[in-house]
Amino acid sequence: MGYGKQVYSKALTELESRRRDAMQKADAQVSYFFTLCPRAEEIRQKQASNGAKVAKAVLSGQSAKAALEKLKNENLALQAEFDKLAREHGFTNHQLNPQYSCTKCDDKGFIDGKMCSCLKNLQKAIAYERLNVNLPLENCSFSAFSLQYYQGESRQHMQRIFDYCTRYAAQFHENAPSLFFKGRTGLGKTHLALAIANEVIAKGYGVIYSAVQNFAVSLEKERFERGNDWETSDTNSQLLSCDLLIIDDLGTEFSSSYVNAALYNLINTRLIARKPTIISTNLSMKDLEDRYSERFASRIAGQYGRFEFVGNDIRLQKKEQRK
Ligand SMILES: [Zn+2]
Repeated sequence: MGYGKQVYSKALTELESRRRDAMQKADAQVSYFFTLCPRAEEIRQKQASNGAKVAKAVLSGQSAKAALEKLKNENLALQAEFDKLAREHGFTNHQLNPQYSCTKCDDKGFIDGKMCSCLKNLQKAIAYERLNVNLPLENCSFSAFSLQYYQGESRQHMQRIFDYCTRYAAQFHENAPSLFFKGRTGLGKTHLALAIANEVIAKGYGVIYSAVQNFAVSLEKERFERGNDWETSDTNSQLLSCDLLIIDDLGTEFSSSYVNAALYNLINTRLIARKPTIISTNLSMKDLEDRYSERFASRIAGQYGRFEFVGNDIRLQKKEQRK
């Protein structure tokens, strides 16, 4: 899947800057080492001139074998001396050589003309970052979720949901089950969905979270701007291919047959591919049937793990406390 030119060039720029940083750091350490130990600098110069001699010997073609052997041994001895001096001055190999973030391609992004996995992953991460701008992740962790706002039986019930969600996040995998969070506003649905997102992102999976109206808006926008069908739109292909998709507040979007069809396709295709989706909504199954379609509701009823959030609006309780 392509991510577009902008994502590609942003990823390349990021790699170049990583590579430059690694080289600059190593260069600075090497220069510092040379000020402490002039002999080390001499060795480096000697190695460089030996390198030039090797090239000459090869080019001249004449009985170069013995000469090459001699130079090779000399270089090994020089390197051993260099390493010994470095150790004596307290420098490690690690400090004196560039430490690239990718050891496969040395942060060049390509190996023998083929794109390295690091460049692919970086593009993926940048694409997700763009889709997840404004993701309110900071305040939504499991540890920030408080059960004190639920009373009596509600608390026990919510404790079970909370426990399930923490296990779900800890054991997340590509074919984890899809979840349906139902309940009124202010009962923690978004908080727990984002807490799962937090952990799953930290494991290196591609997660897309958005309130449903944002999906609807970008789908409609692409449709009008580029005449795209939702089947070929960039937004749709990323929604289909991400490892975990979280659709928040289903039912609050501006309803259109175009968006309804795209949503059904999205949910159905991900189910067939066994890719997990988390949906939060305050609609009942009956509401889903009325608003979308019977088959839409039945896909969710049959294939999603369903959780009913109960209790009293937490946002209101917090407001009360502040009074
Ligand atoms: Zn690489």
